[in-house]
Amino acid sequence: MSAITPDRLPVNRPGPIWTPGNDPTPIAILGSTGSVGTQTVDVAAHMPDRIRVAALCARKNIDLLVQQAWQLKPDLIVSSDPALLNREIPAGTRVVIGADGMLEAATLPEIQIVVTATSGHAAIIPTAEAIKAGKCVALANKETIVCAGELILPLAEKHGVALRPVDSEHSAIWQSLSAARGSGMKRLILTASGGPFRTYSQEEIQHATIEQALKHPTWSMGGKITIDSATLMNKGLEVIEAHWLFSMPYEQIDVLVHPESIIHSIVEFADQSQVAQLSLPDMRLPIQYALSYPDHIAGPCKPLSLAEVGSLHFAAPDEARFPALRIAREAGSQGGPYPTILSAADEIAVEAFIAGRIGFPDIAAIVEEMLSRYSGPTSMSFDLIAEVDQWARAAAASIIESRAT
Ligand code: MG
Repeated sequence: MSAITPDRLPVNRPGPIWTPGNDPTPIAILGSTGSVGTQTVDVAAHMPDRIRVAALCARKNIDLLVQQAWQLKPDLIVSSDPALLNREIPAGTRVVIGADGMLEAATLPEIQIVVTATSGHAAIIPTAEAIKAGKCVALANKETIVCAGELILPLAEKHGVALRPVDSEHSAIWQSLSAARGSGMKRLILTASGGPFRTYSQEEIQHATIEQALKHPTWSMGGKITIDSATLMNKGLEVIEAHWLFSMPYEQIDVLVHPESIIHSIVEFADQSQVAQLSLPDMRLPIQYALSYPDHIAGPCKPLSLAEVGSLHFAAPDEARFPALRIAREAGSQGGPYPTILSAADEIAVEAFIAGRIGFPDIAAIVEEMLSRYSGPTSMSFDLIAEVDQWARAAAASIIESRAT
């Protein structure tokens, strides 16, 4: 695998592009009540001439889903909770209950962009089906590319669909790449805030508490991703995502600790020029760009004043204090089912940490142990991902059980 020219990347396939005078582009939001989902609703509400939310999916938060349905009047709303059937819904909005509903929302004929804002593995199959149906996918769900990048990227190529990153780092790389048409992309530099334990000693990290880990210095995010930011596992998962989305070998993807979270990532070219994207940390900006591409339009985000920020800081990541970064990179390089094991074991370990059952350093240790335990098949398929995911969750839970007793 070697770097290819930016115009051949899936992020730069045109996909649906709105022009003045056109009807707004119909989109589906999978996971509309979560952290990224609610911010997507906010962004869409700022651009009604360009975007129409035509489908909403949420697993559990029925109250918010119903409120969003009244705000946006979509064609379809989906939940796995049958209680939704007893709620008053706008006339013209269809209700579907159950897992098949998410597939329906992802493939509805009128939909042009599917925003995958759900967390976890549940988004992988709906994303694959959306691609097969020719939909542009705005990717906020990490697992889709981390676990299934090896299958999703060729599928997107086959169907000629655009994949638009919503993660701030990958959006920054995508935006920085607009400075390049030809060859010469040499290195990707993903920035990391360093999380709440950036300045902690190894000894202090050993005894870090849940409350300390949940205090993210710059980004406001969900619980799982906040803990992943404290271990730097989140950055490790993003290295794997960057490998697939930008067709970049692992040895050409670096991580740079940058506590202010103003520079969201950097592309380095062969002539040593580096191009970066800067803004205040606000997830609504990358969400908006995935919906407004190729235009940068006025939206809800506040302006950045570098004079007010004053100074920016940078440091190399310390893999001795944050081993998750090395572990994720190794799992990514092994490929096949290993990133799925990484992601599933991490999810179970983070849950156990939040529940107070294991210590903070156990998260990375359990993930590493799980990766070394696997000896099954490595030939990739969506079925293998599902099987390995189940195996890794059960095995990680039993490791946690044995450590706790
Ligand atoms: Mg990110």
